Amino acid sequence: MMNWRKNVRRVEPYVPGEQPKEKEVIKLNTNENPYPPSPKVAEALMEFDYEDLRRYPDPESAELIEALAETYHVKKEQVFVGVGSDDVLAMSFLTFFNSKKPILFPDITYSFYDVWAEEFRIPYETKPLKDDFQIDVEDYLCENGGIVLPNPNAPTGLLEPMEVYERILRENPDSVVIIDEAYVDFGGVSVLPLIEKYENLLVVQTFSKSRCMAGSRIGYAFGNPELIQYLNDVKYSFNSYTMDRITQKIGVAMLRDQEYFENTVKQIIETREWTKQELRRLGFTFGDSKANFIFARHETFPAEEMFQALKEAGIYVRYFKKPRIDNYLRISIGTRNDMEALVSFLEKYVKE
Ligand SMILES: *Cc1c(COP(=O)(O)O)cnc(C)c1O
Repeated sequence: MMNWRKNVRRVEPYVPGEQPKEKEVIKLNTNENPYPPSPKVAEALMEFDYEDLRRYPDPESAELIEALAETYHVKKEQVFVGVGSDDVLAMSFLTFFNSKKPILFPDITYSFYDVWAEEFRIPYETKPLKDDFQIDVEDYLCENGGIVLPNPNAPTGLLEPMEVYERILRENPDSVVIIDEAYVDFGGVSVLPLIEKYENLLVVQTFSKSRCMAGSRIGYAFGNPELIQYLNDVKYSFNSYTMDRITQKIGVAMLRDQEYFENTVKQIIETREWTKQELRRLGFTFGDSKANFIFARHETFPAEEMFQALKEAGIYVRYFKKPRIDNYLRISIGTRNDMEALVSFLEKYVKE
């Protein structure tokens, strides 16, 4: 008998959006930024001395942490960095969700949360969003072992009023509340200032969406220094040199060009609002997304069929075959040209 199999930690893996090998496709399926990072990043790459790769990187990512602290007007001790916010979130689940009581998150949300919960054997309970896809705050006022909520939510793109987050924080002093702000720069309001008021709040952000650097894998978190210390203890007990030298350098360079960041975000917001008008005209319905994607369905055409037709035309969007959302498409906001190509394809499609 081959009994080693019964001791395997089996997991149902997270399925990321496709990364097609062909260059020509219009890629609106993983919420990447359509613009490259700041030219300052190119400069930093040119200046990087390859001989430095001989040595380990700074395990504390001190320069990057300092740049983040400056950019966001917090103390260094309130900042944690990781290899993408997926890494930061996974470390946070491991560090803070150790109760026998279930952690809570919405039924429709980032589909990595239940994967980590399963992987780390964390009991969890999902709370159904209301029919309008907003959360019911009462759902988060019961006993729990922790809470994780995105702001704005994904894949809906919808914001909750600040009061909702604040009430959840105030009424759950015995739980760590993680607010995942992967998309907050596209029109949301960050809960970051609340870290001064609630010691149970951890705010997680990323360079992957609004800072044009999904390829570099930089994520970070803000919280009170004690939370950050616990996170670092777990990180160093796992792998202390997570972020490489090149990434630390170019991450700092990207943060130093705030103007570039603000301009690209502004363009994406403009393109999103233009795309909303066009999709509405073509018979799509959707909530008021404040992210770099639109979560839409069509009055007449099934989402799965549109998804296939778009793919055959070289336009990749995201489709989730899951309860309640299997008639929706999640369409990332690309350049204006990308969105014009999408709209012109859909225009022909709905007329046939
Ligand atoms: C994209 C995304 C992340 C993870 O992004 P990283 O690339 O790992 O930084 C986390 N949460 C949500 C809701 C996301 O959409």
